[in-house]
Amino acid sequence: MLVNATHMLQSAEKGHYGLGAFNTNNLEWAQAILTAAEEEQSPLIIQCSMGAAKYQGGYDVVATIVNHLVKNMNITVPVALHLDHGTYEACFEAMDAGFTSIMYDGSHEETFDINVEHTKELVKLAHQKGLSIEAEVGGIGGTEDGVTGMGEIADPEECKVIADLGVDFLACGIGNIHGLYPANWKGLQFDALAAIKEKVGDLPLVLHGGTGIPEDQVKKAISLGVSKVNVNTDLQVVFAEATRKYIEAGKDQQGKGYDPRKLLAPGKQAIIDRTKELMTEFGSVGKGWE
Ligand SMILES: [Zn+2]
Repeated sequence: MLVNATHMLQSAEKGHYGLGAFNTNNLEWAQAILTAAEEEQSPLIIQCSMGAAKYQGGYDVVATIVNHLVKNMNITVPVALHLDHGTYEACFEAMDAGFTSIMYDGSHEETFDINVEHTKELVKLAHQKGLSIEAEVGGIGGTEDGVTGMGEIADPEECKVIADLGVDFLACGIGNIHGLYPANWKGLQFDALAAIKEKVGDLPLVLHGGTGIPEDQVKKAISLGVSKVNVNTDLQVVFAEATRKYIEAGKDQQGKGYDPRKLLAPGKQAIIDRTKELMTEFGSVGKGWE
C-alpha cells in the first residue's frame, strides 16, 4: 500500500539525511526504482510529471502500475507516489487517480497571490484526503528556447508565507536548475538556503534539478535542511547510455536480442544501479520505516 510522503520526509529532516524523489516514465522505470529502494531498504518517493503521466496513458495508469508493483514485488519499504510539478487542475486529477502526494507548482501563476490562494485550497483538500503536498516559491531555472538560465533564488519571506499555509514540504530555488547544468554554472547558493531554512523552521525543503550537482554540494544542501532531492534527467542519461551500448555492440541483432525484454534490460539495470548509488549519496539507505 502506498503512503504519503510526510512522515518519511519529517524523519529525513530530523535525521539530516535526504530522500531521492525519482521520476518514473514507464513500467521498466517503476520496476527499477522500486527494486533499488527494496534492495537498499530506503523509503521511496516515486514521482511522475504531467508529461510522463500523459505519455503512460493517464494518472490512473501510473497509479495502477505503481500500486500493483508495490504489492506484487512484495515491497516492504514505504513508498509514496507523488505528482511532480502539477498545475492546479492536474493536482485534482492526480488525487482522484490515487496519487498519495502532490506538488502544486504555482510559481508560474501570474501573481504570487494566485499561488497562495491555490496552495491554500489544495493543502486543505490534500490533508482531508490524507495526502501530502509540496508547493513551490519562485521558479526553478532551466533551459527554455535553448538558453539555460543560472537558476533563480527564492525570496525567504515568500517561502515563509507559503510554509505557513501548512504545506508538507517546500521547493525553493537556490540556484538549482532542471536538466543538465551549463559549464559556467555558479553552484548552489547556500546563503540563500540558510536564509530560507531560518524562516521555515523544520519544514523539509526540496532540491529540484538534482542531476549533475556535485556530490559535496548536494550533501551540504542536505545538511542545511534539504530533505528531498529530485532526480529525473540523471536516470534518463544512464538508461540511454546503457541502451546505446547494447545497440552499438550489435546485441539486438544477435539471437532474439530484439526482444524488448532483452533490449530494455541493460537500461533498466542501469537505473537500478544509479538509484542505489544516489540513495547512498543522499543517506537514505536502511532508513526504511524510521
Ligand atoms: Zn522540478
